[in-house]
Amino acid sequence: MISEAALPKDSQQQLRMRRFMMSLAMYLLASIPQGVSLYNGISPAWVMGLWAAIALLSNLAFYLLFRYGLNLRLRDPSMTTAQMVVAIAMVIFTQMYAGEARGAYLVVLMIIMVFGTFRLRTRQLLVLSLLTIFAYGLTLPLIERIEGERFDLAVEMVLWCSFSAFLPFISALGGNISDLRQKLMASNAQLQEVLQQVTELATHDELTGAYNRRYLLEMLTHEKNRTDRGGAGFCVCILDLDHFKRINDSYGHPVGDEVLRTFANTVQPLLRSTDFFARYGGEEFLLFLPQTSLEMAQHCVKRIQDELAVARYPSLPQGMRVTASIGVAQYYLLESVAELIERADKALYKAKQNGRNRMEMATFHRPLLI
Ligand code: GH3
Ligand code: MG
Ligand code: MG
Repeated sequence: MISEAALPKDSQQQLRMRRFMMSLAMYLLASIPQGVSLYNGISPAWVMGLWAAIALLSNLAFYLLFRYGLNLRLRDPSMTTAQMVVAIAMVIFTQMYAGEARGAYLVVLMIIMVFGTFRLRTRQLLVLSLLTIFAYGLTLPLIERIEGERFDLAVEMVLWCSFSAFLPFISALGGNISDLRQKLMASNAQLQEVLQQVTELATHDELTGAYNRRYLLEMLTHEKNRTDRGGAGFCVCILDLDHFKRINDSYGHPVGDEVLRTFANTVQPLLRSTDFFARYGGEEFLLFLPQTSLEMAQHCVKRIQDELAVARYPSLPQGMRVTASIGVAQYYLLESVAELIERADKALYKAKQNGRNRMEMATFHRPLLI
């Protein structure tokens, strides 16, 4: 069953409208026995006419409230109780004139209670059923007046008693199902949340919030296959913080952690939403730039370096800069992801050797794709 609270606003309204349509179908079905009753002269024409008019007007009103979203201003936007009360009142009114067919109407009252289990909890259903029993009881003297000589108190008492015994029972049963559904919905929502956390843990690095190595390699393999089938080329960059060990040694491991976090937070906003930035391990990060030429990758790395040159680290002495050496490699057709990363790593090594805080391009041996 669908939880109203768990659905987006539009779906909630759709669900309410669907349930309203179900109740409308019930009215249409009810018009069959009403018609038969009228045809056979059991109920007077004015009673049936009044029933039809009220059914039409009340349902039109409910429809308009749903249609124009006016129900959203109400405490219970599903208007379940209101719809039930109108339906119950109409059945109680018509059953007074139903003579020996009265039993059929009592069944309808039970069905209305079942309708309530979509939304109401056990207690609300029980209150509503007790009020219905009471209202039905109140009509007995009126029925006696209407039926005169034909009124059989013994039969009416049996009807009322069995109705009074079973309606609360049905309400409790329905309420129970409704309560179970609510619990199921709550545990579903909880499961959804846990699933989200698990997915986050499986794909992200806990310290920096960047993607983790496994997820990035998965994405890289996916992109490589696409490129091999004729897709656009891509680049990877390995970023390694310079002399990071010194930061740890001088300011402590927690400060080192914070530097890693700040570094990731500095790089992330500079990327396109289609780029992937991952912590490859320790103080090494891997940047995957899909549909990117070497020239574009160089621009991107330059942007990162410029930003790092002015980035501030709250736990480090003011003005202290953290730099990174970067190896950039462009994918060439049919090489493996491991080969590609190895080339980027070699470029990174060259950047370290050439004095750090710089980027180097990976060498390649075969024709490039772009
Ligand atoms: P280089 O410029 O050559 O890259 O020098 P480096 O000091 O950055 O490189 P090295 O490989 O000597 O040291 C990396 C350090 O990163 C050592 C390790 O303790 C530290 N490190 C790795 N993972 C973490 C982490 O999660 N948190 C912190 N605070 N430090 C880490
Ligand atoms: Mg380093
Ligand atoms: Mg390193």
